[in-house]
Amino acid sequence: MSLKVYNTATRSLDTFEPLENGRATVYACGPTIYNHAHIGNFRTFLFFDLVHRYLEWSGYDVRFVMNLTDVDDKVIEAADAARTSISDHTGPFGEIFLDDCRTLGVRPVDRYPRATHYIGPMVDFIERLVARGHAYAADDGAVYFSIASFPTYGRLKGIDTSTLMAGARVEQDEYEKEDARDFALWKPATEMDERVGAAWDSPWGRGRPGWHLECSVMSTAELGETLDMHLGGEDLIFPHHENEIAQSEGATGKPFVRHWMHVKHLFVEGRKMSKSLGNFIRVRELLEEGYDPAAIRHLLISSHYRGDLNFTRAGLEGSRAAVQRLLDFETRLAGVTVDAMAEASELPGLAEEARAAFRVAMDADFNSADALAAVFRFVSGVNAALDRRDAVRPADRDSALDALRSMDQVLGLLEVARAARSVDDDLAAWVEQKIEERAAARADRDFATADAIRQELAARNIVLEDGSGGTRWKVVS
Ligand SMILES: [Zn+2]
Repeated sequence: MSLKVYNTATRSLDTFEPLENGRATVYACGPTIYNHAHIGNFRTFLFFDLVHRYLEWSGYDVRFVMNLTDVDDKVIEAADAARTSISDHTGPFGEIFLDDCRTLGVRPVDRYPRATHYIGPMVDFIERLVARGHAYAADDGAVYFSIASFPTYGRLKGIDTSTLMAGARVEQDEYEKEDARDFALWKPATEMDERVGAAWDSPWGRGRPGWHLECSVMSTAELGETLDMHLGGEDLIFPHHENEIAQSEGATGKPFVRHWMHVKHLFVEGRKMSKSLGNFIRVRELLEEGYDPAAIRHLLISSHYRGDLNFTRAGLEGSRAAVQRLLDFETRLAGVTVDAMAEASELPGLAEEARAAFRVAMDADFNSADALAAVFRFVSGVNAALDRRDAVRPADRDSALDALRSMDQVLGLLEVARAARSVDDDLAAWVEQKIEERAAARADRDFATADAIRQELAARNIVLEDGSGGTRWKVVS
């Protein structure tokens, strides 16, 4: 058995073959931290997490790097609109992003490089490209990559570049496929760049790196010149990844990426997410609406990453029920009556079958939909077996529990559900303590303190009800 991945570059299912046996280097294009990440971004980030977890589960020694873009056109405009600097603007959004990742069970990766920490290596990289004839300084103070110097330019996206005008230039970080032209590696500083702290000294004067360059430089610095896997959303294929290939291979003369993988965009309530439709949903909002992070995670991984996924609140309800089913199953299994003398049960066979089906699904280009189906078939099979028995052997119970927990190391659903519920336990303990303090204050006729405590609780949506049996509390939205 071997892992097969759909490679955007070859347009086929390829066997995953890392450069070094047993090791896997993965680079994923992370968020531009100028705003809150939305649910569509998180489909992509949860897929990254699935790849990360599954490679580790399969025994690879994984080195996983995801960048945080903290300087590009969007960051600069957002920082300027907020009348602040890029570092002050991106700092909090970076923290919020990592916080949302934690809540949704995205495992920390090895490194989260930020572009502004790599300006020196970026300048060196551009000098290398100039020296090798792939880049030139223009009289506008910018340095451009010459796509005419790189004959395979356009191959990732599958565009014919023969009709392109050599020497025509594009300066923006993002542009349409029709705009394939020499793109900026280094841009001269504008007044706005200087205002927001997005300008550095270079051999070509004050300026800043182009967005595409950032990923080529950080991936090489962190993982070496050839990466086993490079992941991103499908919108990054062109121009971002096309440009990364040109830059990296232009500078090193070596193949840049062995496997390119791209995640399809999400639909929300049946429509593409767009500013004009106003259907951007942020993970933060869903959590504040009280949705279980495990349900969000389940919905976002419930469909294969290259297939369509329609995100709806009704779907979230279904996912909530699915997660609850897993939790109930684990509870039932852990609490089942065991008896060493019980007759042998179907559990070990079901466990083995489930693990095998799970692996087959994940090996088939990370098919999480089929992997989830294998898990829920297992749940049904074991539940039916338990219905027929008064007791099972301890080893049988353990084989089933081990299989469930092992598959969850990849899916992360029980893990996230438990974490979300233990936060609730912490909250409950805190509330109980506040209620005790308030009762003590009231007993001392210190009503000011008692009121202050009530208000402190109200600020966290907790309402107290004093009754004959004592004080009860509840969370209100
Ligand atoms: Zn990137």
